[in-house]
Amino acid sequence: MKLPFDLKNIKPGEFAYLTKRKLENKQKEAEGEIIVWRKQGNEESEFVVKCPFCLEESSGKTVFTKRPYRIRCPVCNRSISLSKLTKSAKKR
Ligand SMILES: [Zn+2]
Repeated sequence: MKLPFDLKNIKPGEFAYLTKRKLENKQKEAEGEIIVWRKQGNEESEFVVKCPFCLEESSGKTVFTKRPYRIRCPVCNRSISLSKLTKSAKKR
């Protein structure tokens, strides 16, 4: 998956968090992947995702409000849970 920025060019403190996680489908196979990040001072998180259900790649922005955090695949409209990601994001 391609990020809309170069990881090497990130300055310290520019991002509130940046994390990459495998996403499992219903058969618990890690077919998908998501990279989520939020820049310091922004309310919206941005993501690029490879949907574990339809395997299409897409990107978007969202404000995570209530747990478990979820995004909806814009291609197949399935809900993708980010519960694992949430735990690790909190640690940072
Ligand atoms: Zn999908």
